[in-house]
Amino acid sequence: MDSPRFICDAMLGSLARWLRLRGFDTLYSRTISDSELINIARREDRIVLTRDTGIPERKGPQRTVLIHSNDTFGQLKEVLSALDKVETGGGSPRCTLCNGKLAPADRDAVARSVPEYVFMNATSFFTCVECGKVYWNGSHKKSIDSQLQKILGENVTREP
Ligand SMILES: [Zn+2]
Repeated sequence: MDSPRFICDAMLGSLARWLRLRGFDTLYSRTISDSELINIARREDRIVLTRDTGIPERKGPQRTVLIHSNDTFGQLKEVLSALDKVETGGGSPRCTLCNGKLAPADRDAVARSVPEYVFMNATSFFTCVECGKVYWNGSHKKSIDSQLQKILGENVTREP
């Protein structure tokens, strides 16, 4: 299955991190210009996520989702409702920092990189193949899934 790929404009950094955790290949740069954004979207067949009402009006083949919400969860909901297959989501989670893929890691290899309670409780670990950031199961994904559940159930809540 081809899951959709995205490119976010400079105002949507927090949304980009959430999409990566959901496994969506998502590009984001704080300094990207509108024309670069559109060029990359066309070249790499990415959906443009933007708060800039000017972008959708530019002529071009790129698909654009205009984001209205100021709240990250509201934004995520707007993206997911614009997709056809909300439930299937993306592929494997990606690094929130750099959009890299995550690879399984040995417990011993990450022992010094995670807090002790994490090391004791988590059963599997992953590292980003690009930047080396360590992730573990049961941490991010679980809370995100429950947040998503709330979003899709219309009970939008904020991060504590
Ligand atoms: Zn990374």
